[in-house]
Amino acid sequence: TTFADLGLSEPLLRAVLDMGYIHPTPIQAQAIPAVLQGQDVLGVAQTGTGKTASFTLPMLEILSGSRARARMPRSLILEPTRELALQVAENFVNYGKHLKLTHALLIGGESMADQKEVLNKGVDVLIATPGRLIDLFERGGLLLTQTRILVIDEADRMLDMGFIPDIERIVSLLPPHRQTLFFSATMAPEIRRLADAFLRSPKEITV
Ligand code: AMP
Repeated sequence: TTFADLGLSEPLLRAVLDMGYIHPTPIQAQAIPAVLQGQDVLGVAQTGTGKTASFTLPMLEILSGSRARARMPRSLILEPTRELALQVAENFVNYGKHLKLTHALLIGGESMADQKEVLNKGVDVLIATPGRLIDLFERGGLLLTQTRILVIDEADRMLDMGFIPDIERIVSLLPPHRQTLFFSATMAPEIRRLADAFLRSPKEITV
């Protein structure tokens, strides 16, 4: 399989080539076509499997193919830690370098005023930790009514860190008609319950 076989278009294929990737990893080969078809995904995968590209690449493809209405955030990626959020943002920039999509990194330890300013300018994608996203929401000015793609990454760590109530609250702020991509390194019963609550007929991928 090649990345072109998976249905990605030229600007993303070029970015992947720039990264030196030759073949999609197993999770990429399975997740990318499913996401492009609009399916929810339940991915059981560790870090190191290429899972970040498995959700970032098709998300960029979908966003690049549709116009933003007033530049409201159309995708939200939730990460349990600021370090992971930073890594995902770096990936987002690399994979999206031939596209004109924007992002905001909403994590603790950075200025809320700066983050609000970025949001006010309008962005396509939010990459956030749950606590900071809720803080910003509570200050007003963050609308998630156009956010139709949600990624919950590292769900097992979210659970360990006590973020599930925050995530439930965030999900309640999103439109009900959305695409959800849910990743976890393990599939404990509690994670399975969450996945059942958040996903609709997902494609299950275990690598
Ligand atoms: P991740 O599991 O998303 O943290 O990715 C682990 C590492 O694999 C990162 O350094 C990626 O840049 C790299 N990577 C992701 N996809 C591929 C691929 N298809 N071929 C080679 N390296 C990749």
